[in-house]
Amino acid sequence: MTEKTLWFSILKRLKPTIKKAHFLTWFQGTTVLSNKEGKLLIALPTVYARDWIANKYGVMVLQAAQEVDAEIMELDYEVVGRLGEKGNNEGVDVKELFIGGEKKVRKIRNANEVRVTKDGGEPVETKIFNARYNLKNFVVGNRNRLPHAASNAVVKMPGGIYNPLYVYGAVGLGKTHLLQAIGNGVLREFPDMVVKYMTAEKFVSEVVNAIGKRRMPKFKDQYRNVDCFLIDDVQFFGRKNSSQQEFFHTFNELYDRNKQIVLTSDRPPSELDDLDERLKSRFSMGMVVELLMPDFETRLAILNQKCMEFQAIIDPEVLSFIATNVQTSVRELEGVLRQVMALSQLAETVPTIRSVVEVLQRMNKAKEIIGFDVEAKRNDHIVKNAKDLMTLVADYCHVSVDQMTGKDRHKEVMLPRQICMYLIKNELGESYEKIGMGFGGRNHTTVMHACNKTAQKLKIDIRLVRDVNAIKREMGL
Ligand code: ADP
Ligand code: MG
Repeated sequence: MTEKTLWFSILKRLKPTIKKAHFLTWFQGTTVLSNKEGKLLIALPTVYARDWIANKYGVMVLQAAQEVDAEIMELDYEVVGRLGEKGNNEGVDVKELFIGGEKKVRKIRNANEVRVTKDGGEPVETKIFNARYNLKNFVVGNRNRLPHAASNAVVKMPGGIYNPLYVYGAVGLGKTHLLQAIGNGVLREFPDMVVKYMTAEKFVSEVVNAIGKRRMPKFKDQYRNVDCFLIDDVQFFGRKNSSQQEFFHTFNELYDRNKQIVLTSDRPPSELDDLDERLKSRFSMGMVVELLMPDFETRLAILNQKCMEFQAIIDPEVLSFIATNVQTSVRELEGVLRQVMALSQLAETVPTIRSVVEVLQRMNKAKEIIGFDVEAKRNDHIVKNAKDLMTLVADYCHVSVDQMTGKDRHKEVMLPRQICMYLIKNELGESYEKIGMGFGGRNHTTVMHACNKTAQKLKIDIRLVRDVNAIKREMGL
């Protein structure tokens, strides 16, 4: 058994014990480097994945490994950056575990590339879909359940009862996500189908182009073999009659042959003012569903989902503050989260409610902020010196300041000590030397080590993130 097949068998056993989304996030691109003298050396693409797997799944991985090879007694981990690089296939593609045989996977890859028509005509190119969009990572709540369910039904049976499927909703609510997810899903379920994705704008410009260059027959040919046609933002059809006419023909031809058509728009068919009546009524023939702004719980679930995708750990209170304050669109929700993450990466601190406020202020949304009094907080008692901060941390962690600055190396004192050093450094900007002096004359490298260690732990330890944030709130930050 090669190392990779060994790892594959271990993952197969591990798969049922871990939530699918987590499994896909953390085990993607991993592999085994060696299996010697009872020690299994696992390679991972990132430090995050290493820490996360070692902390959360270590025992489960070991158990699964022992089922495959009883000699394995111990796990070791190594971060191998190139595993995370695009196009690198040294690591295991865990998605294969959910689809079945490798053969099928290879077929799907081909399906995403150039496709040859079934009856030997001109090759038809299939748009490569953004793999980021699928139906599994589309978070479902009361206000988007129907569009999601209809998309699922289309994937199961293209050209079935939901044809055409028309999804409408305001900007940034997930129309393109669903449409691309349908594309990805259909290709996965039916690797031989030809799926075409296009925005209405592009369709219009291609029609105009084809007419100008007298290439209409060739243009029409493109659609002859399409099994599933996905057309985004049909409100952009505009008044161009020739392109509407062309679309009308394409639509009818596909529809008559029971081919699936999915359309999206920012409004219902009846409100597409510039559109030919015949098209409007065609659009309404199948299923028309509306996407609405998700409610608070769903917004929170979306934020959690995105954190997992971005491999970020953020205090649940901070996430719920974002979910409360961003009610415009999912795109904006995601945007705020990304900015908050970027801000905290720059400052090398964990995201707090205050950092969210900062982002919202930059977006000129300060006036609408709920649950945070921008003016009042400024005048609060803010802990400004190291001594006060030490008292605060000691109180919070139920130890005395003397214990914290002393020599005791028990976990109960070490942790508050490290947190305190970290906060003095990052929030008050003291030098390592000075902090060392305040902590019983410790060497500056010891302090630096404590700060770095805490910063690392903050990337993977949600409890620590909560504690640090709670202390920061008490500091008035
Ligand atoms: P639209 O096409 O309606 O303007 P998009 O499909 O581009 O919106 O969605 C904007 C962003 O919001 C995308 O990153 C998408 O992944 C995300 N998004 C929207 N709805 C959801 C959802 N229910 N779950 C997860 N992500 C979502
Ligand atoms: Mg869109």
